[in-house]
Amino acid sequence: MLDFNHRSGTAERINAAVDAALEAERAAKPPRDYLGASRLGHACERALQFEFAGAPKDEGQAFSGRSLRIFAIGHALEDLAIRWLRAAGLDLVTQKREGGQFGFSVAGGRIRGHVDGIVAEAPAALGLRTPALWECKTMNAQNWRETVAKGVAVAKPVYATQIALYQAYMEAAVPGISAARALFTAINKDTAELHHELVPFDADIAQRMSDRGVRILRATDAGELLPRIAAHRDFFECRFCPWAERCWSLPA
Ligand code: SF4
Repeated sequence: MLDFNHRSGTAERINAAVDAALEAERAAKPPRDYLGASRLGHACERALQFEFAGAPKDEGQAFSGRSLRIFAIGHALEDLAIRWLRAAGLDLVTQKREGGQFGFSVAGGRIRGHVDGIVAEAPAALGLRTPALWECKTMNAQNWRETVAKGVAVAKPVYATQIALYQAYMEAAVPGISAARALFTAINKDTAELHHELVPFDADIAQRMSDRGVRILRATDAGELLPRIAAHRDFFECRFCPWAERCWSLPA
């Protein structure tokens, strides 16, 4: 007869070993020494400053094995989306000829971003202007439905900011990319449904967020702490912030 209790102990031990391995892999990676443009739409400039400066996260706030698995599943699903879009006839370029992702590096390499893909050509019937930036995200059903209902700019402004910045910064390498609407793809992780949205270039967001990046670099160089987003620690963003202890123990 099967020993179910014993089996569940095995599952826990295997999961603990998987998580420990993923966490060790992550800890062995050198920390980022640049400000990720995909993060610039984050609500709090001080949190972005902590991130850029490599400030250690509060105790127990490092990415868990489960979070790392969620990120990895997202990447694997993006690879599938690439295959599906190519099957639909899109010429989706995701690697440079010499290898490696497309991306940009500005402010002396201190602000960088990596692009999911560029739609070089598409069947006329699909109504895409090219070359167009392609950005792909995976979401749970609730977030996906909200994005479909409201559009990415309203439902996920951090992603919309990322798209605007990437369109602006990629223009030098891919002329015309900011004139074409970006193709945003959202994968519903629960149902495998796909949402596609054409996002016009928002020059105002791109400029504001680029200025924000420069402000964060300058303040960090000058050793100045940028203001908090909130007056109270129980503010929504602060409750989920991995630097909350550090932040609220410092002067305002
Ligand atoms: S705790 Fe709040 S104010 Fe402080 S860095 Fe985090 S989000 Fe910003």
